[in-house]
Amino acid sequence: MKAIVVDTPGGPEQLKLVEAPKPEPKAGEALVKIAAAGVNFIDIYYRTGLYKADPPIALGMEGAGVVEAVGPAVTEVAVGDRVAYAMCRGSYADYQVVPAWQLVKLPDGIDFATAAAAMLQGMTAHYLTHSTFPLKEGDTALIHAAAGGVGLLLVQMAKMRGARVFGTTSTEAKAALARQAGADEVILYTEQDFQAEVRRLTEGRGVDVVYDSVGAATWEKSLDSLRPRGMMVSFGNSSGAVPPFAPLVLSQKGSLFLTRPSLAHYCQTRQELLWRAGDVLNWIAAGRLKIRIDRTYPLVEAAQAHRDLASRATAGKLLLLPE
Ligand code: NDP
Repeated sequence: MKAIVVDTPGGPEQLKLVEAPKPEPKAGEALVKIAAAGVNFIDIYYRTGLYKADPPIALGMEGAGVVEAVGPAVTEVAVGDRVAYAMCRGSYADYQVVPAWQLVKLPDGIDFATAAAAMLQGMTAHYLTHSTFPLKEGDTALIHAAAGGVGLLLVQMAKMRGARVFGTTSTEAKAALARQAGADEVILYTEQDFQAEVRRLTEGRGVDVVYDSVGAATWEKSLDSLRPRGMMVSFGNSSGAVPPFAPLVLSQKGSLFLTRPSLAHYCQTRQELLWRAGDVLNWIAAGRLKIRIDRTYPLVEAAQAHRDLASRATAGKLLLLPE
């Protein structure tokens, strides 16, 4: 089978297409023939070495396809099931062995591309809005990169929960997409001072929560956009990792709360996984949640997908489609 691996962390040119033996599922595992693999920013972090793994580093944290074989003691899925998964590394490949408890059966009417586009970013938007800072009617939320893969889903879910949503984007075209997703206000953070805009829009009060995936570039002003005792949810590093800082700053800026969550810790049990994935997939099937697939690539063009995602040129999901 074909797979993409990284031997030495670095630029997109480090992504290598290799021939590898088809893996065999052990107890509790299933072999999935991958029809679509999601491209996520976390793949870039593994490629560059910001997140550590032993080489050869298999890439890809999300996929959808058909169960081709199961190991002993698998109860969750059977051969022939249409499934999807997230947070199991190695989906940039024709096949992947996945712990069976991480596999979710797809409802009829959800195709593989949609499923591979929905799992990781959808469950992320779900835990951020339902668990990390459970939004309620009337809350105000600032969502950076609101036209990104996570961003468009986060905006939609925040609106479902009744929040007033301010999004940031780098371009007017992306702002239009964020508005379509439901954002009440969109700030062009490449041209406007988003902190000043947030203060103006909230009559000086500040927002209840900032969902910040941009990291280094927005960190300071995100803290300054919060109301006293508001929550800073720093969940990504698209512009670079946030530098070390002193907890005293949280006190000085209004007894703020800070959390740095990861999907892995919000999907620790099968029950939690089925709740989040079930909501996401059922909302899509019912037409309540829209998935925007921006671009698809053959597996061999994984490096181009990484270049595109890192260049800020994309809005929505990027997928690799093995032949
Ligand atoms: P996106 O589609 O959101 O792409 C990143 C976006 O970030 C860009 O399109 C761009 O939007 C914005 N951005 C701002 N500054 C930069 C920069 N210097 N370089 C590149 N992009 C920049 O990607 P994903 O949806 O895959 O991921 C979004 C973020 O969410 C990532 O940081 C990722 O790590 C994080 N994440 C965290 C998870 C968790 O559980 N903690 C799970 C999933 C994702 P614009 O042009 O509008 O500025």
